[in-house]
Amino acid sequence: MAHTLTENAPLAARTTFRVPAHAAWLAEVRDAGAMPEVLALPQAAPGVLVLGEGSNILFTRDFDGLVVHPDIRGIEVLADGAVRAGAAENWHAFVRWTLARGYAGLENLALIPGTVGAAPIQNIGAYGTELEEFVSAVHAYDRVARAQCELSRDACAFSYRDSVFKQQRDRYIVTAVEFRLPRERAPVLDYAGVRDELAAMGVAAPSPTDVADAVERLRRRKLPDPAEVGNAGSFFKNPVVAAEAAERLAAAFPEMPMWNGKLSAAWLLEQCGFKGARDGDAGFSERHALVLVNHGSATGAQLWALAQRAQAEVKQKFGVQLEPEPRVI
Ligand SMILES: Cc1cc2nc3c(=O)[nH]c(=O)nc-3n(C[C@H](O)[C@H](O)[C@H](O)COP(=O)(O)OP(=O)(O)OC[C@H]3O[C@@H](n4cnc5c(N)ncnc54)[C@H](O)[C@@H]3O)c2cc1C
Repeated sequence: MAHTLTENAPLAARTTFRVPAHAAWLAEVRDAGAMPEVLALPQAAPGVLVLGEGSNILFTRDFDGLVVHPDIRGIEVLADGAVRAGAAENWHAFVRWTLARGYAGLENLALIPGTVGAAPIQNIGAYGTELEEFVSAVHAYDRVARAQCELSRDACAFSYRDSVFKQQRDRYIVTAVEFRLPRERAPVLDYAGVRDELAAMGVAAPSPTDVADAVERLRRRKLPDPAEVGNAGSFFKNPVVAAEAAERLAAAFPEMPMWNGKLSAAWLLEQCGFKGARDGDAGFSERHALVLVNHGSATGAQLWALAQRAQAEVKQKFGVQLEPEPRVI
């Protein structure tokens, strides 16, 4: 069977927030060729939602339609430096796979949770690197054209935590991603303590694998592990403001961190007292103000209510609108 169908499927264990929610129907699709048949099912009529490993999504309610999990696997070297990976491959395992074969590029993106297929959706980024630099093409099922398609990197319209896949939500179901990876790359170390971490590890001339090790160590220290406390990483994007607003803010709050018009959402939340704040089992991490956490039995609605309160207070104090990074259902 190229797909399986489950009715009233529990989703809590399928998301890193681990909040209770059900999908009326869940389809696990193991072959890209089966997409047209699955999407034509009557169960898809109320709506379709694609789910990878659920590390960037918050369910505040049940989903009435069909949740599609593209369970498409396999990693293939097409030519030296050209690698294609199926949508369901785990991102971090893929990063380690490329490094083990002597390819550079993805080392700063080590330990980001989730699947390869979801990585282009918000153009994942961390420690000074964004996915877009290394994507050569994205294979997807286009629900508007009702056909398989291949999008070039330009067609993906990548920008900060954004892409055509986010702009035209649910139009494309990513089935595989192709990467072009160099054998060598000047290490990107000037971001959030990578250089210091390598020094602490006693590494003077780091290989890409050393950089990935350093990034892993930093992430394990700084971010709450979703296996221990439910979360989806950063809950808000760093806001980008127009030059006029940046000037106004710099004058009113000289200590506010700012780079190229981008503000630190973590700093804004901290100033409003949200770091470590808690309302029942919904809270913001004590380690990182930007991480909304489920301390145990918070519902998605409770987490979303706390996030909205944080949005309102930041707006009132700084006049800045915070946008959620994860998808909120
Ligand atoms: C602890 C932690 C740390 C994190 N750190 C980072 C970070 O440093 N940088 C960063 O960018 N992100 C980070 N994230 C967010 C998350 O890891 C990424 O967004 C990841 O790419 C989500 O993958 P997923 O498979 O879990 O996607 P899901 O959560 O399942 O889905 C996310 C979105 O993508 C869509 N989607 C998923 N798969 C597909 C597909 N095959 N085709 C079409 N649409 C699809 C979904 O509909 C949804 O809109 C972090 C999350 C956690 C929990």
